[in-house]
Amino acid sequence: MKSIAIDMDGVLANVYSQFVRMHAEEYGKIITAEEMSGRPEGDVFPDALKFVNSPGFFRTAPLIKDCQKILEQLNLRYSVFIVSAALEFPNSLIEKQSWLNEHFQFINWKQIVFCGSKEIIKADIMIDDHFKNLDFFTGETILFTQPHNELTDPGIHKRVNSWKEIGELFLR
Ligand SMILES: [Mg+2]
Repeated sequence: MKSIAIDMDGVLANVYSQFVRMHAEEYGKIITAEEMSGRPEGDVFPDALKFVNSPGFFRTAPLIKDCQKILEQLNLRYSVFIVSAALEFPNSLIEKQSWLNEHFQFINWKQIVFCGSKEIIKADIMIDDHFKNLDFFTGETILFTQPHNELTDPGIHKRVNSWKEIGELFLR
């Protein structure tokens, strides 16, 4: 069985919708898709760091479309690991665990890898929205489209724009 390392933020968890909502609450302005396109989150949302450190940021993140259903199917055919850099923000680890338990009951605790750097991660396939995680990975690398990376050439990585596309790639 092939193993897949799957990122949380920007792949399962819709963190952009949290940023947009919190920015609107703070400044009364809705940031548009055009304004977010091709720019790092920290440039688009000056309070990004404050937001991610706010209690509930990770716990209440909405799901990215179709991820539950496709991941449940992947879980039957692959050795699935959820790999998340959860040590960067103090609140995030327990919130991320509760969030996974709520939305992905078919994922057991042994399939959850909370880490600092992802450099140590080895698997057959990695799905992530950040080049910094994919670039040193030795297996097959899938770049999940998010506003910050959508204008960048994926290079050696394969770009997918949705979970539906992940299903088409790995569930045929
Ligand atoms: Mg991510």
